[in-house]
Amino acid sequence: MITEECIACGACEAECPNDAIYEAGKDWVIGGETKQSLNDEHTYIVPDKCTECVGFHDEPQCIPACPTEAIIMDPDHPEDKTALLAKKEHLDAVGR
Ligand code: SF4
Ligand code: SF4
Repeated sequence: MITEECIACGACEAECPNDAIYEAGKDWVIGGETKQSLNDEHTYIVPDKCTECVGFHDEPQCIPACPTEAIIMDPDHPEDKTALLAKKEHLDAVGR
């Protein structure tokens, strides 16, 4: 998840293999469907698209890319590797 420390630099968006990161107020897309923005205040991560980089990399790529340490693991929504891999396979099937 992205916190208020975000300065909207865009560095994280370029690193995400799932296209799960969107600018504030921008609608997001999954499987060709457009969905309403989840955050009008700062850059945000779509939980339905973030696999914590499972299936692509050993570690989340967005976290070290952020110059303000605005990206943290969401403590309220832990997900196990099996579920994250299933999410990645779903995105493979429907499209990011
Ligand atoms: S952890 Fe990986 S998949 Fe999730 S938002 Fe960051 S770069 Fe994208
Ligand atoms: S890299 Fe950090 S500061 Fe830049 S847009 Fe992403 S969360 Fe915001």
